[in-house]
Amino acid sequence: MRIIVTGGAGFIGSALVRHLVRDVGAEVLTLDKLTYAGNRDSLRSVDNLPNHRFVQADICDRSAVREVFDSFRPDRIYHLAAESHVDRSITGAGDFVQTNVVGTFTLLDAARTYWNGLDVAGRERFRFLHVSTDEVYGSLGETGLFSETTAYDPSSPYSASKAASDHLAIAWQRTYGLPVVVSNCSNNYGPYHFPEKLIPLIILNALHGKPLPVYGDGSNIRDWLYVEDHARALHLIADKGRLGEKYNVGGRNEVRNIDVVRRICALLDQMRPKGAPHDRLITFVRDRPGHDQRYAIDATKLETELGWKAQETFDTGIAKTVTWYLENEDWWRPLQTRYDGQRLGVLNETP
Ligand code: NAD
Repeated sequence: MRIIVTGGAGFIGSALVRHLVRDVGAEVLTLDKLTYAGNRDSLRSVDNLPNHRFVQADICDRSAVREVFDSFRPDRIYHLAAESHVDRSITGAGDFVQTNVVGTFTLLDAARTYWNGLDVAGRERFRFLHVSTDEVYGSLGETGLFSETTAYDPSSPYSASKAASDHLAIAWQRTYGLPVVVSNCSNNYGPYHFPEKLIPLIILNALHGKPLPVYGDGSNIRDWLYVEDHARALHLIADKGRLGEKYNVGGRNEVRNIDVVRRICALLDQMRPKGAPHDRLITFVRDRPGHDQRYAIDATKLETELGWKAQETFDTGIAKTVTWYLENEDWWRPLQTRYDGQRLGVLNETP
């Protein structure tokens, strides 16, 4: 099986590429622009394997995308390339509209042309998996869960651009018959996560004795999923999911942001016991504008229809993650110049 993974040098994309190349044994082509968030080092364990190749290209570049389709002849596209950081979308939405909306359109349309040119068996086999987020559903109150039929109600430029791309993907299935499946996942965490995101930021700031910024009062709730569980879910959805359908992916691990930060501090206190407790560094900062209060996923459809189950709980996954950052300084050290001062540009203002 030949699979193109867009955004395969990013956090989730690289976990998916590692899974496909090493566990599934697929022929994989990673197509990635290598923005600030893309990192070839995240693919170092597969880079020398014969069933992986890498092409640096922008999904908005139609002729580059078509050339990759025509030369690689994929059976599937797993589309993860995106601008993904909510804070950056607030200070600069243009890149999000360009990559997430225009880029997805470009990819869908190039896939349609390619798919139309396949023989009957190739057309039957082909799949376009569009990977998205639960943030398209907006915010929950204290109760309730997002299901696949929850109405879209995005709050940030990031989630609005992802919502637009989901609609395009489904429209390409309904209008042109392109074999599309869509997944909407909750917040991921795990190894190779770019250090501007909450969990790696807290781990690395704590290690450096820097403030641990927490938005508002820290009561916002996210439903955390270990990235390798997500990677397995994505391949399963592309393999067995029904065309034109959406599948929600989530680990049933709702945790308040402040509790995520305290858990990391407690783990670091155990693993690096020297000095004062790490939670002394917690600093509450002005809340993000449009900050959704709670996300929680109902993954029943994925669990019952496709038999998926998360293997990690938040306790096991976060312990693995903290350990990974302690043992892989050579991966995160060179990235520090790429995010210092960026995320903190929004976070710096204290209430
Ligand atoms: P990421 O920011 O870590 O990686 C994105 C990758 O896309 C990078 O390698 C980047 O270089 C590449 N890219 C960006 N613009 C591109 C372009 N124009 N052309 C080609 N490549 C481009 O993101 P992530 O956290 O790995 O998320 C991957 C996908 O999963 C995104 O679509 C995101 O919306 C979705 N998602 C993320 C989460 C999460 O918690 N991180 C949860 C649910 C869904």
